[in-house]
Amino acid sequence: MCKAYFDYASTTPVDPEVAAAMMPFLHEKFGDASSPHSLGQEAKKALEDARECLANFIGAKAEEIIFNSGATESNNHAVIGVARAHKAKGKHIIVSSIEHHSVLEPVEYLKDHEGYEVTYIKPDGDGCIDPEDIKRAITKKTILIAVMYASNEIGTIQPVAKIGAIAKEHQVPFLVDAVQAVGHVPVDVNGLNAGLLSLSAHKFYGPKGVGALYVRKGTELASLILGGDQERGRRASTQNIAGVVGLVRAIELCGQKMTEEIEVQTRLRDRLLSEVPKRITGVKVNGHLSRRLPNNAHFSFDQVQGESLLMSLDLAGIAASMGSACTSGALEPSHVLRAIGLSDEAAHGVLRVTLGRWTTQEEVEALLQKLSKIVKSLRI
Ligand code: PMP
Repeated sequence: MCKAYFDYASTTPVDPEVAAAMMPFLHEKFGDASSPHSLGQEAKKALEDARECLANFIGAKAEEIIFNSGATESNNHAVIGVARAHKAKGKHIIVSSIEHHSVLEPVEYLKDHEGYEVTYIKPDGDGCIDPEDIKRAITKKTILIAVMYASNEIGTIQPVAKIGAIAKEHQVPFLVDAVQAVGHVPVDVNGLNAGLLSLSAHKFYGPKGVGALYVRKGTELASLILGGDQERGRRASTQNIAGVVGLVRAIELCGQKMTEEIEVQTRLRDRLLSEVPKRITGVKVNGHLSRRLPNNAHFSFDQVQGESLLMSLDLAGIAASMGSACTSGALEPSHVLRAIGLSDEAAHGVLRVTLGRWTTQEEVEALLQKLSKIVKSLRI
């Protein structure tokens, strides 16, 4: 049984206030937002209020928000939808080599099956993308630039505003996967010059299976899911009203608590980043030290198998991760860790510790103690 949860970047528990806000929409207010009767209209009002609220939170207009099933869908829709809508202009995409697979795989699909040319931009050893590399890669045929706001693995925050300014200057749509940032640090689509931005509710104390894609007015985007005129014809399927209400209640709570949460989590994270290398030999901190998500600490340990470390921590009542849930358990080392220069061996001996709303100082101290013991025992 897990007592201390240090895997908030994988998913977060639903805040009880979020669950309470959702409940009426699972019971008495169960209408379909497309139905003309009053039950349907009640659902429609909740949906449109939620759209307005999310839009305000990220500096967007309500009509620029498409609600969907989460960021995997947002990223697929953005990549494929922009490519299809801009075919006449060209077939060149610029993408950071450390994007989440939900960006990289649709890009690879376009490369392998539809003749697109892709420029992969490599990060430096801290995981930072240089905006000048993006600028140099732009051609007349470039139809999309995709760089994530912050890494889900090593926590490095990218210079997204600078990249956005370059994208704007060259009139290329800019996709920001902001999944790890929204709700945790301030995100404003205008400051970023984002043409498209992805988010997922379960990363900020909302429910799983609901998210949104922001699409700036004027950014052409083909639809992926066809068969209905929901979301202004851009994403067919009956809307998940309870989910959307939960997403927006979650974002409101994040807005109210953000300043305090950033402060508390940064303090706990910095304790981990400084104490782990003091207490354990053969440790490297991965990711940029200051341009980093407040809740992320990421380490590699010499002569330790990450899987064994995770299992031992789990037995000791601690849930952590090796990186993205999508790659953990896979035999291939993470593409992100390879890109920042870790050897295959080092990339197997990693631990990602991510903090959240309910992380306490006591839990962090217990983790520090148990981690030292476990690493020592695994190295014998
Ligand atoms: N992008 C990033 C950066 C992520 O961390 C994740 C979730 N691990 C996703 C996209 C996909 O989100 P979801 O699983 O909610 O679709």
